[in-house]
Amino acid sequence: MIEPKREKKPASKKSLAIKTAMASLRDETSDGGSAVELQSLIEQSCNFYLKNGCFPSSYEEMQAIPVLKTGMLPYAGDDGGAAGQAYRLRLDVEGRCCYFAFRTPNETGVWATTWTEPQMLLPLPDPVVERLQAGAVLAPTLREIAEPDGTSYAVLDFIVEVPVTEPAEWERVQHVLGWDWGVRTLVTATILDLEGNQVAPPLFLASGGFDGRQAHTRRQIDHLKKKVAKLQAQRDRFPAGDLKREPSTRKLAVLKLEIARCWRKYEARNNDLAHLAANILLLLATVWEADLIAGESLKSLKSTGHGRSAKGKWVRWRNNAQIRGELWRCLRYKCHLAGMRLEWQKPKNTSHTCPRCGKPANTYASPEHLSKMSDSGAWLTCNSCGWNGARDYAAALNIARLGVAFLKQYLQTGRISHPSMTQTNTVMNSESYSGSGLALRLPPTSLRGRLLDGGKIYVNGWIKSVTLHSALSQDTMLRLCG
Ligand SMILES: [Zn+2]
Repeated sequence: MIEPKREKKPASKKSLAIKTAMASLRDETSDGGSAVELQSLIEQSCNFYLKNGCFPSSYEEMQAIPVLKTGMLPYAGDDGGAAGQAYRLRLDVEGRCCYFAFRTPNETGVWATTWTEPQMLLPLPDPVVERLQAGAVLAPTLREIAEPDGTSYAVLDFIVEVPVTEPAEWERVQHVLGWDWGVRTLVTATILDLEGNQVAPPLFLASGGFDGRQAHTRRQIDHLKKKVAKLQAQRDRFPAGDLKREPSTRKLAVLKLEIARCWRKYEARNNDLAHLAANILLLLATVWEADLIAGESLKSLKSTGHGRSAKGKWVRWRNNAQIRGELWRCLRYKCHLAGMRLEWQKPKNTSHTCPRCGKPANTYASPEHLSKMSDSGAWLTCNSCGWNGARDYAAALNIARLGVAFLKQYLQTGRISHPSMTQTNTVMNSESYSGSGLALRLPPTSLRGRLLDGGKIYVNGWIKSVTLHSALSQDTMLRLCG
């Protein structure tokens, strides 16, 4: 899994060899989350090898010793709100506030004998009050956030234990939402009923603007790295201890901070994207009353993007297992909180099977290029029944069909087992495949400007009312196609 050093290229990880080895590990009984973790472990140990010339003998050997860089006060270790030694906390839920008092050591380390006065009064935000009325408060944690630019602030993590919404009885599930992590679009979703009727048009979440920003940040990082290499060469022209090394060393420190800042921005956006995509899937499931969400397990390999450009690198990253794993992780816990059922499905053949007649189908670069098959093509055409459409859309339909087959099998046998594409006999009702007459239970796209106002997407359907909050709505375009 290591590419040896060559004349012009330093030694590196053989990503393809790692991927191939991972693909041959078939774990048929999980959503693939452990495969993601295993891949991350393999990559970590390869990085260790590249740095040290040998593989680590234990997991701990790969881990840096954690050092606490900012202050943290976990109240759980103290004796609680009334008898605590370092803090006192009094909750006034009626008054929608809480009171804090601290006892701290002075500069010489001597502990004060009295509590801080006046006590700190913190208003409780509405969602916290709502949760407090429904659940039980646990010990909060006070921690410090130190930004690289020197600003720092304190965060109080207020932890409340609340009961989660119970998911619908299996017998009552009427609709299944199937979604696919797309090649061309970020997420494609659609909804089927148990008879194979399509009840929602295909819904595409495109992330064009977002992709552009991520690519821009990647380019920035590449550019900074080049600068670092140049400066290091400049510095190393002089022997250790030489004062002429100073200017380069100083500039290097600044550049390294800048690179770290870019990576943080990049990762924070990825994180936001996972939350946004998960929220949208939950929103669609709610609006179309689909109590079961079906998504492919994480074991499938996705398109690896195009070329060595920054955009290619980003698309590659977007499709890799870690970021898909992050979406899956977000979706899993959000479903748990919202009382929605989520089941992984076997990805094999979902993008090479006709969703209407169930026969194997080919993919092509586009509807204009039907003379030449392309395994990674974005267009699927069925030679048996003539169905054709976007490959991601076909995959979303097939994953929904797998979800329906899974549900029917469970209702018949009481056993949880995940059917494969060849085992599903739920065929789509051909009357409904065209999607004509399917109500778009969301406001039309022309109102998008108003919909995204203030970072909120409102859906006031006749079914349920849902408000979606997202930090990303300005960056990411939500395209809902009827
Ligand atoms: Zn067909």
